[in-house]
Amino acid sequence: MLWKKESTKESAMYVDFCGISLKKLRMSDEHLLDDISSTLNKNDSVALQKRMIGNELFRAACDAGKLYDAINMYNESLCFAEPKSSHISLAYANRSSCFLKLKRYNECLIDIDLAIEAGYPENLLQKLEKRKHACLEAIKTGSMVPTAYEPKLSFEPDETYPYLANAVNFQRGENGKYSVVAKENIDVGQTIAIEEAFTTCLHMRYGSKCTICLKNVTTNLIPCKKCTIAMFCSDECQRSSIHEYECGVVMGELVDNMENVRSILKAIGMFANVDELMNFVEENKKDNATEPPANITDAKLNYREFLRCRFNAEYLPYLLGAMDVYPVYKILMDIPKVGAMFNTQRKRRFLMHLIAQHSLIKLYNSQNNAFIDIGTKTVLGDKEVMLDSMTGVIHKYFGHSCAPNVHLTTVNNKLVYYTLRPIKRGEPLRISVSQFLLEPKEKRQKILLAQGKPICKCERCEGPSASKLQRKQLASDPDYIFISTNMVKAREHLQEINEKCVSFLTKYGRMTWCSEIGEVVTAYTTTRSLQWSTLQY
Ligand SMILES: [Zn+2]
Ligand SMILES: [Zn+2]
Ligand SMILES: [Zn+2]
Repeated sequence: MLWKKESTKESAMYVDFCGISLKKLRMSDEHLLDDISSTLNKNDSVALQKRMIGNELFRAACDAGKLYDAINMYNESLCFAEPKSSHISLAYANRSSCFLKLKRYNECLIDIDLAIEAGYPENLLQKLEKRKHACLEAIKTGSMVPTAYEPKLSFEPDETYPYLANAVNFQRGENGKYSVVAKENIDVGQTIAIEEAFTTCLHMRYGSKCTICLKNVTTNLIPCKKCTIAMFCSDECQRSSIHEYECGVVMGELVDNMENVRSILKAIGMFANVDELMNFVEENKKDNATEPPANITDAKLNYREFLRCRFNAEYLPYLLGAMDVYPVYKILMDIPKVGAMFNTQRKRRFLMHLIAQHSLIKLYNSQNNAFIDIGTKTVLGDKEVMLDSMTGVIHKYFGHSCAPNVHLTTVNNKLVYYTLRPIKRGEPLRISVSQFLLEPKEKRQKILLAQGKPICKCERCEGPSASKLQRKQLASDPDYIFISTNMVKAREHLQEINEKCVSFLTKYGRMTWCSEIGEVVTAYTTTRSLQWSTLQY
């Protein structure tokens, strides 16, 4: 069905994917209209309300987490404040207090300037001056919290593929396909690839991250002047053409489709017109999986790699349903610029199929970031909701294993790959495509099946189990004992747990996989993510 034409004629159009007859369009419209609202709804009274909630959170804040929650509220207040309203300056001013308390002095000073720029009331200016003075004094004491962490490769970058460390490279396997292989022995905890996501999407808590690069509340986020859900961390993100297209687009239940809307917008933005885009996609459909990887620092090559990502066409029947391809198509066609571009039936049919392919790729490859409800203090088993999602393109070069030697995580809009176990030269690098390392084989296979992924034949699924003696040895190791007793209060011991994990995995990481290794790997990836999130509270 995907990319199927109406006949075998060269000039034939693609089949009508959505089966969009005018009648169906109207029906679906009604359905969609149930739960959509414009995002062009700036409103000073909402801004005030949100600032008041922020103030309450600020007053009650007993730890950094609550202060960041207050910042999130002030950010939402900024999003709703009407143009030129005093609520803008008041929210910036209040946010600067949070940054001061968090010892983020640079951010505090920037917010004070932003408040003044936005017309902070003259009669209150003294308050701000005092805060600025306190901030400058505090800087002299040198107790500043460092600026947000940026991930770096642990080795020099590869010359051809600068997103890979030069300790690894692409190697062609017997099946003709390329995969990432170690060029030398690699220790535990080494970052071996960093990729900027092809697309990102923030699904909720719009005051918590930059809508483009997903930088979090530790930076001075600035609201979009028009809509109530976009914030930016920098001029560069503010100028992004993606948001220009999508600003004001109706959301509601459709929010989970926004990443697909964005990936299409990104593709459209690369070409002078629809015909060029069509030619490019047609050209790359002929591509087989055995071509060497492209250097994705070039935008079009990056898109080519995106189109070459694996997907499972068995999902297609589901995508045909009301909630996938059609809503993305509708959102896109409602954007005047896009509607005008896809001005013939031939082009619109092409667009439907392109959306289907993008959606399938996202389903198979995207990384979803959960928002951990920090109301509860345990690290594992917190309440999780989808906060953001992103899709990279080099994922396909890492095979899957239930006993992985590499972990894929996300930092802002970067996909970061780092080693979990000691790796010997020539060995392939494998990640686990699901967070299921602590599950038994039967459950893992079930999850893979549900995700449309092949049955796993990794060493852990097929190979022998660890001996009782080995497990006894690992369980009595002091590193293991420290980790397993301290994980419940991981936030208080991040650095220490992290070091013990590296030490344990360096000693035992090459042994037959067993639940003790699984526990330590999980503790390691959890504490490392917490360190990277820079929200250490
Ligand atoms: Zn940004
Ligand atoms: Zn906007
Ligand atoms: Zn397996």
